[in-house]
Amino acid sequence: MRTALSVVFSILIIALVICQVFARRSKKPIGRAVAFLLAGMATPVLGNLIIITASNQLIATIGYYVYFLGMDTAVYSIWFFMHDYCDMGKPKRVYNTLILVFFAVDLIHYILNPFLHLSFATEQIMVENRAYYRLVPYLGQAYHRVFCYGLFFAILIVFIVKTVKASRVYSEKYWVMLFSMICTGAVETYYIFSRQPLDVSMIGFGMFGLLVYFFALHYRPLKLLDRMLAGMASEMPEALFFFDRSGRCIWSNDPGRKLIGVSNENYDDVKDDLRFLFGDIDFDSSGWVKRITLGTGEDTQYTYLAMRSVVDDKGKVTGSYLSVRDITDEQREMKREMYRATHDSLTGLYTKEYLFENISRRLENDSKTDYMIGYIEIANYKVINDVFGRKFGEYTIKHIADFISKNAGENTLYGRLSGEAFGLLIDKADFNEEMLEERLERFTIRDDNLEHRILIHFGIYDIDPESERDIPLFFDSARLATTMIKDTYQKHIVYYDDKLRNEIIHNQLISNQLKDAIAERQIRPYLQPIVDSRGMLAGAEALVRWIHPDEGFMNPGDFIPVFERNGLIAEVDRYMWRCACEILSEWKKKEIGSFISVNISPKDFYYMDVVSELKGLVEEFGIDPVKLRIEITETAMMTDSVDILKLVSGLREYGFIVEMDDFGSGYSSLNLLKDMDIDVIKIDMQFLRDSERNMKAGTIIKSIINMSEELGIDTLTEGVETAKQFEKLYAMGCKLYQGYYFSKPVPVEDFEKQWFD
Ligand code: C2E
Ligand code: CA
Ligand code: CA
Repeated sequence: MRTALSVVFSILIIALVICQVFARRSKKPIGRAVAFLLAGMATPVLGNLIIITASNQLIATIGYYVYFLGMDTAVYSIWFFMHDYCDMGKPKRVYNTLILVFFAVDLIHYILNPFLHLSFATEQIMVENRAYYRLVPYLGQAYHRVFCYGLFFAILIVFIVKTVKASRVYSEKYWVMLFSMICTGAVETYYIFSRQPLDVSMIGFGMFGLLVYFFALHYRPLKLLDRMLAGMASEMPEALFFFDRSGRCIWSNDPGRKLIGVSNENYDDVKDDLRFLFGDIDFDSSGWVKRITLGTGEDTQYTYLAMRSVVDDKGKVTGSYLSVRDITDEQREMKREMYRATHDSLTGLYTKEYLFENISRRLENDSKTDYMIGYIEIANYKVINDVFGRKFGEYTIKHIADFISKNAGENTLYGRLSGEAFGLLIDKADFNEEMLEERLERFTIRDDNLEHRILIHFGIYDIDPESERDIPLFFDSARLATTMIKDTYQKHIVYYDDKLRNEIIHNQLISNQLKDAIAERQIRPYLQPIVDSRGMLAGAEALVRWIHPDEGFMNPGDFIPVFERNGLIAEVDRYMWRCACEILSEWKKKEIGSFISVNISPKDFYYMDVVSELKGLVEEFGIDPVKLRIEITETAMMTDSVDILKLVSGLREYGFIVEMDDFGSGYSSLNLLKDMDIDVIKIDMQFLRDSERNMKAGTIIKSIINMSEELGIDTLTEGVETAKQFEKLYAMGCKLYQGYYFSKPVPVEDFEKQWFD
């Protein structure tokens, strides 16, 4: 028995030590307290091992010392552990100090025992035919017991309270501890008071230590887990149905019961109910998901079903569960998001990106149809916006979006590309150019009884099925086509073709060459004489010419429109005005009194301060501003970029003579005349040309001349080609004449030779 017991004690000590090591390494916060407790439990066992194996009294006495001090440590370590285990926080300082004082007193009286013999002695008895040193307790031993029992009972009381107070799922962890402490304590007490020589209760100590180790560090309260999971599942918004291995429904959460209208825990008809709601559902397999759409339009319901299997820790399937989620709101929100992301908010048309995406897909999937790209732009949008306001601008955009929707063929894709531009993919078979041209011609928008003429340009790029599918490039080409529309009110639809492409390339080329051309004087003024009624020279108009090294002689019609589109016209005009001033300053030296008139492009106003530019020039060359006449066309006068009234009066105040060029060619010549003070009217040559065949045109010229006279404005007629015309105009009272009849525009030297030599 003694040998067997010593073997058991040894095994327990080893086990406790090993667990202690593991507990110390544990990542759980309670690990330290457990490690301390295990050490506390191992010490009295070790003491007893020494006692039962002791071969003489001294060793036995040492064993008793280890045992008693071990008991102190053991109870103290349980006290310490209790705080962690019962979530009581750190031990209170007062209690802790009190216990340590008791502990210290106990320690001291044991130390003094060899001298005072107050604690205990040992007596030799025979147990199993071997000497055994039994304890003979004295009074001091009673102190030790009171201390240990006192603390032990205090601990027991805490555990009893905890066990009673804890909720059902937690009480388990307390009563396991309580139970094993009571058992260990009882057996120990029995041993002490029965004075049994061999302390079997130490096994209880060891077992208690191991139990604590397990419960505190490794035990997972499954019941607690179950309850938590069930609680969580009930709280879930989705309906959940759990099935056992045989496929029987065993549980469902509240939303689940609500879904199938079951109020009790009777799950017999769950599968039928679910099939009734969602059609055929495969309950026999798991790992699938399914989206179900019920109803149509506004009432569409979207449901997401997922069947999953439940696997235990060995990987065996123990059952399955079905989750049913109503995703209608998410789906609707997603659709709204999708719509917002893909549709323009103002017009409801596709956004540029979405349009491109759709076109790309269409071209990819449908190679049989012949398609072309359309680019629609509101040419006068800036004016509309500035003059009539942003609101009307938006109204216009919406109107055009409607126009596109109404006129687009079934097979057409379209969207809004940017502010005033729209893009289309057009099925050629659907496209009726003539009809569209006619509709664009008549395109107006009404607002408050006012009709607004909206100028739409429609560029078309014919897609070559062989070419690379570069949609942004297609649109660029279609857009470029619209920039080439010159006669803005006559034609609305333009195709991008090779001719246009070459033209664009050519335009780019001459734009790049302009700077050098000016520096090298390839660009230079020609002068055309202006004569009075006696046929005497009054002055000249400076008209630009480009003697191009490769292309030869170029008239302004070949390059001015190009430069007006890209803004380079300002460079040309600034240079031309300078040339005119140079010539005038030469003439001044030669005492020639003729004037030179120069042209101003409407685009000049965008790129420079015309007045200060001109003033600067006459000052630089020291010429009389009266000698530099300024020709402003009627269209330029209608520009919205500057206050033209102020500009004209500024020029006149400074001494320039301002002429209204091409009078009668636009729409509001008379209107302008009413508001603006000008010096000379240049009657558009078309009138003179028309007057050959048309009596009315002649009458108009006559009226203009008469009217001007009354307003104190001089008249100049352009395009005089014959003596007859000259005579007629003379008879009508015209003051100045310009035309081939007198001379074509000629180089400056030729002009001077002809008129001054
Ligand atoms: P414009 O200002 O009306 O110039 C008169 C045009 O009529 C000139 O054409 C001139 O050569 C032409 N012309 C003069 N007499 C007759 C005639 O008896 N019969 C016919 N059929 N034509 C005649 P050009 O030089 O080709 O200039 C065309 C237009 O280019 C000008 O029209 C003007 O608007 C513009 N332009 C010319 N030079 C400049 C310039 O330096 N700057 C700007 N911004 N525009 C210019
Ligand atoms: Ca002119
Ligand atoms: Ca003119």
